[in-house]
Amino acid sequence: EIDIRSEFKDSERVRAFELRIKRDVERLGSEVHIMEFCGGHTHSIMKYGIDELLKGYVRFVHGPGCPVCVMPMQRVDLAIELAKLPNTILCTYGDLLRVPGSGRKNLLNLRSEGYDIRMVYSCLDTLNIAQENPKKEVIFFAIGFETTTPQTAVLIQKAKMMGLKNLSVVSNHVITPAAIQHILNSPEMREIGKVRIDAFIGPGHVSVIIGTKPYHYFAEEFQRPVVISGFEPVDIMQSVYMIIRQIMEKRAVVENQYTRFVSYEGNLKAQKLVSEVFELRKEFEWRGLGLVPYSALKINKRYEDFDAEKRFSVDLPKPKEHPSCICGKVIRGVALPTECKLFGTVCTPSNPIGSCMVSSEGACAAYFKYKKL
Ligand code: SF4
Repeated sequence: EIDIRSEFKDSERVRAFELRIKRDVERLGSEVHIMEFCGGHTHSIMKYGIDELLKGYVRFVHGPGCPVCVMPMQRVDLAIELAKLPNTILCTYGDLLRVPGSGRKNLLNLRSEGYDIRMVYSCLDTLNIAQENPKKEVIFFAIGFETTTPQTAVLIQKAKMMGLKNLSVVSNHVITPAAIQHILNSPEMREIGKVRIDAFIGPGHVSVIIGTKPYHYFAEEFQRPVVISGFEPVDIMQSVYMIIRQIMEKRAVVENQYTRFVSYEGNLKAQKLVSEVFELRKEFEWRGLGLVPYSALKINKRYEDFDAEKRFSVDLPKPKEHPSCICGKVIRGVALPTECKLFGTVCTPSNPIGSCMVSSEGACAAYFKYKKL
């Protein structure tokens, strides 16, 4: 039996791709700028030192692919205000608990003040919580890219089947291709010299669900190669090599390096499930990117009884970012975490000031862990 992880961690294969990449970039005559959209790839690139290995040949521009990082302040404030409603249990995934809201407080601070805020590993855990607490309102604050949306859809369908009246969901599920298209359309991309992205490493886990199909439009429209990649060092090196080959051959298409998990169509069953419960929002605000059209999902009419945004109304404070936090720029790929004056001193993973330092997929957290500055 082959150990798939060691096969994709093999240092000789990494070295072979390194030599080929460097040879071809020398022939191209200039450094290639590649945005890895997904925070999981940022983490792997830092962990295995791939950025250092290819320094001067490939520049990795870190993208917005970390669901906690892209939550705008207003959505964090929404979670905080919902948690303060009387007789309420607010449930969410662990990372969100540590993202500061406008008043610099996070959900963990609120919990220490006595509010009932619970971390869940699976959103389906909220079904039990709702059943065990029939006199309380249980709100699940759902975040995530296309990878976690099907599970939230299952939760909502099950809650309906079980006739649960005290469980509702805030949907913050966001959509990857819309964000990539928005980045390619941004003024910073058009302004020569400000930021340059020659190609994309496409997200692996997201593409297991949505397939490679949705990326074809902007590979062609914006003439940028896209290679869907796995997360091991050999995966990333091979994906970079596939991109360099496309650039050399003056092609801009979608290629799939992660064929062991990703197909052209994706997981059709999961896609159907999502379309039964959700519909597109006209626009949604992303931290760093602003309002992005058709980039997130809301609960559709058939399941609106489970939509916490329709069931509860709260007053939100005016969003107030820390004046020195440059998360927005980091997310857009126009600044490195180390350019932030709070990095590693005032802002650390144990005391995050901005969202990019919270999750292990955030660029600031990855730099803090692996750059050892
Ligand atoms: Fe924001 Fe902290 Fe990153 Fe600076 S280091 S950009 S404060 S998250």
